[in-house]
Amino acid sequence: MLLLDDLSAVCPFCGGREINRFAPLAANAPGWTISVIECQQCEVAWQWPASQPPPPSVTKPYYDGYSNDEAGRIRGELELRFMGQFAPQPGKLIDVGAGTGSFIKVAAANGWEATGVDPSATPFAEGRAQLLRGTLNDVFHSGELFDAVTMFDVIEHVPDYLTLMQEAARLVKPGGVFVIETGNYQSLNRLRGGRTWWDYQTDHCWYLAPGIVNRQLREFGFQQITLCDRILRQHWTGRGDSARSWLQTVRAVVRRPWKGAETINAHRIERTCASKWPEWHQMGIFAFAAIKPAVAS
Ligand SMILES: [Zn+2]
Repeated sequence: MLLLDDLSAVCPFCGGREINRFAPLAANAPGWTISVIECQQCEVAWQWPASQPPPPSVTKPYYDGYSNDEAGRIRGELELRFMGQFAPQPGKLIDVGAGTGSFIKVAAANGWEATGVDPSATPFAEGRAQLLRGTLNDVFHSGELFDAVTMFDVIEHVPDYLTLMQEAARLVKPGGVFVIETGNYQSLNRLRGGRTWWDYQTDHCWYLAPGIVNRQLREFGFQQITLCDRILRQHWTGRGDSARSWLQTVRAVVRRPWKGAETINAHRIERTCASKWPEWHQMGIFAFAAIKPAVAS
């Protein structure tokens, strides 16, 4: 259970007090640091205290990586292909935290009646796609249910993300699919990024991992929970981050002997990471699809 009022000293996932504090650099605000706490037991992390928003002059525009039409379309197709394995027939879909609406446009072009909702959206309606400005609570009061509910890169932004997950999960029809994607703290990508990992951003509250999110989906009653076997990005789609082999390590030491101890230490850390998280250490971003049982169990 998440105890959101005492994130300064207690892990909200396990109640443990063995925590590390560190101050990584914010990838979206050059020169800015944030304050992060990691639970040694769960090996996930969160930002605490929350950073004050940096001045706009130092913040990189958020939608840079999302708003480019062509990149957004390709990414939307990757996301839809993953979701489509669990929802073969197009139906009604809601994308929570839809940003500029690139995913709903792709979904609508593939036969879905697709609604997006985002507090900072510029609303539009185009064919079967409509983007609404607001939160889930602002928009849905009708008890309407959806064949698919998606949240791509959303939960890390929301201080009480578990409540958002609950609200979104409630909108899934029995037999429907719920898709969630976020950055993976338990990854080689994060270890290699060190203090400058791209996911450390002023507005990212949570640095989660598949084990914890899977457990939460089960607690909400979802079944057939499937971890995507690739990263849903155009230039980062494979399970490309492999731990260095001994041969690669030896070669690196021969090439730069003055960095030998550092290289061997990095190799050890990577092998430990690979054996601790065999299913997901290669994925810097992970996505789950989960099915709501047709009959509540
Ligand atoms: Zn913990």
